[in-house]
Amino acid sequence: MPEGPEIRRAADSLADILVDQTITSIKFGLPGLRRETPRFRDHKVINIETRGKALLTHFEHGLSIYSHNQLYGVWKVVAGHKLPKSTRSMRLLLQTRSHSAILYSASDISVWPTADLENHPFLAKIGPDIMDSNLTWRDIAARLQQPGFAPKELAALYLDQSFLAGNGNYLRSEILHDAGLYHRRRPHELTRGQLGKLARSTLSISRRSYQTGGITLAPRLSGALQRQGLAREWRRFYVFGREDSPCYHCSQAIRRVETGSRRLYFCPSCQGDS
Ligand SMILES: [Zn+2]
Repeated sequence: MPEGPEIRRAADSLADILVDQTITSIKFGLPGLRRETPRFRDHKVINIETRGKALLTHFEHGLSIYSHNQLYGVWKVVAGHKLPKSTRSMRLLLQTRSHSAILYSASDISVWPTADLENHPFLAKIGPDIMDSNLTWRDIAARLQQPGFAPKELAALYLDQSFLAGNGNYLRSEILHDAGLYHRRRPHELTRGQLGKLARSTLSISRRSYQTGGITLAPRLSGALQRQGLAREWRRFYVFGREDSPCYHCSQAIRRVETGSRRLYFCPSCQGDS
């Protein structure tokens, strides 16, 4: 299941070929949307925005296409107009003079006036996007102290899309480890310093993962492990997927628990368990 950084990278590759380009051809795969085609042809895309797992394609004339990949949806970008062979059903095709972007299998697609998007039932209930470049650590610290979030366990909060959209399972373990916090703590029990650290870790870990293509380890540590011959899969994370391996800070064995029916990893020494 992709998380904020992966979704943002997929959006970047769409933005590379679509933003500031005129759509010369568009096809909707879902029958209810086919009548929308003429409203988009020959109009320019101005921005590709992600909000959690939703992707918004904004057009110059005040219309947007909302799409949510759910479990199976996937975007493909190709040069030219010849579409790759696929057994998946095509749900949206956007073509410019030089490229094609194809969305397969997603079933949650709709057309909105851009100004009305905040009323979309999914967008109305999710929090700010973890990859939003305007989001600051102070915004996150303030959010952690809101009455709806402050009494919740961090393990639950860090999967809750109404707290921060785009947060997900590997980010949860990695952020809490970076902040040195046990997953059963609750924001209202934390000191000001701990809240600030957690807010900063939330941003730094997710932004690093975006920049590195999914590696949350500090670049120097990941680089050192690479020189020791470790494959990428083994030099990505501080704790996630590293059950029984030694913590990089204190050498204690990393532990794994299930919480919210998802696996969570932590260092019992660096993250305390009280
Ligand atoms: Zn440790």
